[in-house]
Amino acid sequence: MPVNEALFEQIKTYLNEKGAILVAVSKTKPVADIEGLYHLGQRAFGENYVQELTEKQPQLPADIQWHFIGHLQRNKVKLIVPFVHLIQSVDSFKLLQAINKAAKESNKIVSCLLQVHIAQEETKYGFSSEELMAAIEEIKKENLPNVSVKGLMGMASFTENLQQVKVEFEQLKSLFDQCKALLGADCTILSMGMSSDYEEALKAGSNMVRIGSLLFGSRENKA
Ligand SMILES: *Cc1c(COP(=O)(O)O)cnc(C)c1O
Repeated sequence: MPVNEALFEQIKTYLNEKGAILVAVSKTKPVADIEGLYHLGQRAFGENYVQELTEKQPQLPADIQWHFIGHLQRNKVKLIVPFVHLIQSVDSFKLLQAINKAAKESNKIVSCLLQVHIAQEETKYGFSSEELMAAIEEIKKENLPNVSVKGLMGMASFTENLQQVKVEFEQLKSLFDQCKALLGADCTILSMGMSSDYEEALKAGSNMVRIGSLLFGSRENKA
């Protein structure tokens, strides 16, 4: 499906006003769709699956900033570390250690976000708020020189109930403020908001949104 150029420009203008970054979520979408948005100036793209990302990446321009937003297995880390821009879905301290190790081998510093579980649903990955605080303690204690923790990422419940979504986003914003106080100046990114709830997320203080279906059309299978 060709991208809706007018809608893309409209979303971009809106996000610029709000000072938020757009990550275009291209999972399950063909390379041609990504090229379409690339030619309109979009550079940040988000993918959920390692295999899909490593297949698409070499076919596309080298200045694309790839955001990894799906569940990441430790044994797959080394496949994306050489080129990834931001791993948004770090959901355990062990994963962060694995990224640090692979980053060291690639001689780079990899930027990461810690994923927080804010939704009611059981299925979503991420730290609980208690686990998050424990992980931040470990990050401060243990020296991981090849990762840079830049903030938090979270997904609200998939619900029509905007009040619940608002509460969840506000909870994540409050955790982000605590994270900033503990981790300092590096902690600048709060990634929350998707096609159905990004306006709500921006109201709650998001500065990075991950939008897929609104830009690329709906996906065949739920991913
Ligand atoms: C798929 C996905 C998105 C984008 O979802 P849309 O509803 O298509 O905008 C954003 N974030 C994550 C973590 C995702 O898995």
